Amino acid sequence: MSSMKKIESVADLPGVGEKIAEKLKNAGYIDMMAIAAASPLELSAAAEIGEPTAAKIINAAREVLDIGYEKATEVLKRRELIGKISTGSKNLNNLLGGGIETQSVTEMFGQFGSGKTQIAFQLAVNVQRPVEDGGLNGNCLFLDAENTFRPDRIKQMADALEFDGTEVLNNIYTARCYNSDHQMILTEKAGELIKEKNIKLLIVDSVTSNFRADFIGRGELAARQQKLNRHLHTLQRLSDVYNVAVYITNQVMSRPDILFGDPTTPIGGHIIGHFSTHRLYLRKSKADTRIARIVDSPSLAEGETVFRVTPEGIRDPEEK
Ligand code: ADP
Ligand code: MG
Repeated sequence: MSSMKKIESVADLPGVGEKIAEKLKNAGYIDMMAIAAASPLELSAAAEIGEPTAAKIINAAREVLDIGYEKATEVLKRRELIGKISTGSKNLNNLLGGGIETQSVTEMFGQFGSGKTQIAFQLAVNVQRPVEDGGLNGNCLFLDAENTFRPDRIKQMADALEFDGTEVLNNIYTARCYNSDHQMILTEKAGELIKEKNIKLLIVDSVTSNFRADFIGRGELAARQQKLNRHLHTLQRLSDVYNVAVYITNQVMSRPDILFGDPTTPIGGHIIGHFSTHRLYLRKSKADTRIARIVDSPSLAEGETVFRVTPEGIRDPEEK
């Protein structure tokens, strides 16, 4: 290595150069880490290069970053950087093991009106709070796929905490996703913004609606799942590489074939489950109360809890 030119940027990687570096950058592979974490298949598609070349580039990036096997102490060190964002409800935080985690994808699925978007708004406010108050001193990137982003409602939640609503809204970067391709481009390009704007929370509300609308027929199911797969992989990669919390929501579809229990199942099925670190199922209960239940999590105990959606935001049942 000593006789070779020092590799300082993506363009310096063997086989890259300015042109491919530009393509990679446009596809969201903005730095060495993003390339090192990619698979040859995705990188070859992003930069329009052969898979063997992509594999070489990935290996070179890994070498520069000295990535390979690591000691468990290194893993522990990285896990010590995990931050948690309060949902506003102690009950819900406890169920989540303290709140919504960075380096993880947390999915909430449930029927219309079950509180998925309200939790998103509350998290967008709370992430901005100091760590001791359940925040991460960071900002929020909000991808709105259902046209349900409501700054006035967020401001109402901020006011309830006596925060400057304008300042809170200034720290939320948002984009409307018009279709599944647009949504994918927005996430693939999110890395740069995440770094520049101190983003600690990435919300996609909802993650599946565009995919469901764009791939309607039964024959298109495989294509849809493949794209959704890539999208979720991008989200997971962002959460890992940039130490951000990813919060995604998901609608449910009716399952007329289930007679007992709850006849609903999340769209995208096991594909999403594979990428979400934590999945919660939300349902309506009496008045403003909602019930959240953990659905298969590697680290959280099974269980359910009750929270409320109040004018002030997400709260516990015993709070005013
Ligand atoms: P979804 O799961 O479909 O995203 P939402 O998170 O949008 O559902 O929840 C909608 C529900 O939140 C409404 O039915 C209402 O009960 C509650 N809600 C929304 N805005 C307010 C508000 N300003 N004050 C009190 N409750 C609200
Ligand atoms: Mg919603």
